[in-house]
Amino acid sequence: MEPVVDLQHITHVYVSDREASLALDGLDLKVYPGEFVSLVGPSGCGKTTLLSIIAGLMKPTKGEAFVYGRKVEGPTAEVGYMLQQDYLFPWRTIFENASIGLELTGRLDQEHLARTTALLEEMGLEEARNLYPQQLSGGMRQRVALVRTLTTDPGILLLDEPFSALDYQTKLQLEDLIAGTLREKNKTAILVTHDLSEAAAVSDRVIVLGSRPGRILKSFEVPEHIRSARPLLAREQQGFNELFHEIWREMESAGNKE
Ligand code: ADP
Ligand code: MG
Repeated sequence: MEPVVDLQHITHVYVSDREASLALDGLDLKVYPGEFVSLVGPSGCGKTTLLSIIAGLMKPTKGEAFVYGRKVEGPTAEVGYMLQQDYLFPWRTIFENASIGLELTGRLDQEHLARTTALLEEMGLEEARNLYPQQLSGGMRQRVALVRTLTTDPGILLLDEPFSALDYQTKLQLEDLIAGTLREKNKTAILVTHDLSEAAAVSDRVIVLGSRPGRILKSFEVPEHIRSARPLLAREQQGFNELFHEIWREMESAGNKE
């Protein structure tokens, strides 16, 4: 099977007036169609840098990134990017916020608008359609951000700590909803999180990164019976705690403190 994301020896150096810092060092990663992969690692190990390179927002200093077999040269509609902060525009309604990607790409037609309405319904937001972002809870706002990302139908979703600003219960519910939706739509997803339990509960594969410089330390395959359970129930499966502790130990042994 051909990978949908293929990173080959990615090295990235940030250069400022005073210094140069090596953020990523010779990183290789392949992600396959429909896979849900999590990246965990301490602050500053290059997770956001890696996503920005896949999204085409940043060019690596060395190495090459391929998406669907084509070299990444800039942002494309095939890759959707969802951040910790929702960046909804306060003066636009929820529907207007959700459809902004369509507006920007000139696809504000009946078909796409109907898709937006359907996605809002799937996310339980039909009643919120004409409200404004400040009238919504954090969890609802993140659901709007997800709808906005999905309206243009990207095959690949990059999620940079989308749940980390939410309270625990909302976070669990959203993990369930988002992981379920992405699987059902057969999307390929790369999630950055510092919550090891979340990573193990939603993913097919958990990749532990080390810092200074950022690199892959170890990759964990999540056993079939855990990955096929919904995130909430995955945590109760046999072997989940063992998996969690193995990932935890890998983080610790590398001197990763988060
Ligand atoms: P993470 O998302 O894992 O916390 P980042 O990818 O944001 O890590 O950052 C990786 C490293 O690169 C860190 O040491 C960070 O300080 C540095 N870095 C990130 N962005 C910049 C930038 N724009 N300029 C200089 N250094 C940066
Ligand atoms: Mg980051």
